[in-house]
Amino acid sequence: MPLLAPVTRNPSPGIRLFRAFGIDVYLHWLWFVIAFIEISNSNHRYSSLAWNVAEYCSLFVMVLLHEFGHALACKSVGGRAERIMLWPLGGVAYVQPPPRAGALLWSIVAGPLVNVALAPITIGVYMLIRSATIAASTDVRHFAFYVAAINILLLVFNLLPIYPLDGGQILRALLWFMIGRANSLRVASLIGLIAAGAALAWTVTHQMWWTTALAVYALVRSWGGLQQAGNVSRLLAFPRHDELKCPACGMSPPRAPLWRCACGATFDTFDMHATCPHCGQKFETTMCLHCGEKFPIDEWVGAETLPPAPTPAFLSPFPGAAMRSR
Ligand SMILES: [Zn+2]
Ligand SMILES: [Zn+2]
Ligand SMILES: [Zn+2]
Repeated sequence: MPLLAPVTRNPSPGIRLFRAFGIDVYLHWLWFVIAFIEISNSNHRYSSLAWNVAEYCSLFVMVLLHEFGHALACKSVGGRAERIMLWPLGGVAYVQPPPRAGALLWSIVAGPLVNVALAPITIGVYMLIRSATIAASTDVRHFAFYVAAINILLLVFNLLPIYPLDGGQILRALLWFMIGRANSLRVASLIGLIAAGAALAWTVTHQMWWTTALAVYALVRSWGGLQQAGNVSRLLAFPRHDELKCPACGMSPPRAPLWRCACGATFDTFDMHATCPHCGQKFETTMCLHCGEKFPIDEWVGAETLPPAPTPAFLSPFPGAAMRSR
């Protein structure tokens, strides 16, 4: 059963299929291996193997449409969505909505909404084919039934409130309105952790290896969500540069030495005008710690209030840097 969770980390390499709406669609190489196993093991409902291939591919077309729902919705609220990866367990849209409850909610809900929209279409086509008005072969009837059924299954499965499934992320976005960004992620991840742990125990005892892989994935992602909740809490606890705002997400950066230079120095890049106080390295772009976007420091909203870029004399309180660079 495919998993359709949108995540933000980079995908492992795959074959680039095409690009649409500024989104690259990749197919993981493992997909072919699993597709071969699945199709050759599929039962003989059809008169020819071509139907099994069509069935397997149609599942991924629906997964792809679902992922485009996430990606386009994320873009519509000003977020980032550049890649969709199709892999054996389903699809993953690499979306990064702005850190706002409403933006996250819309980016997540849009995926299952695609399946909601597909339901009357696929069921309608099946009803039409099943009715006597069209003389369709048994293969066509089976196929139409499969497509309609799998769409409903995708919808129901993804709405389970288990992080990182869509349902779990919708729960998180709704909780965000009530208990804030970090605690909502903490609660949703904890529920995910418990549910995935229970699912893992159950699938292992029943030797359902396919679902075991999914449970392990959910477990790892929920654990990651818990860690991330901790990071977000810490980030939000710092005082902020209230006069500055990220051009992408509108959040004010923390007023703390949280940016690290390759030389190992950590410093508040906004106090230093994106120049390392230790080695003097000037940074082209500065990363927003809330959304991960990078912009030249002068493009931050309110950047005119920043201190001017330090001159080399500024480095004098750190004589070690000058010594080492010689
Ligand atoms: Zn989804
Ligand atoms: Zn930002
Ligand atoms: Zn440095």
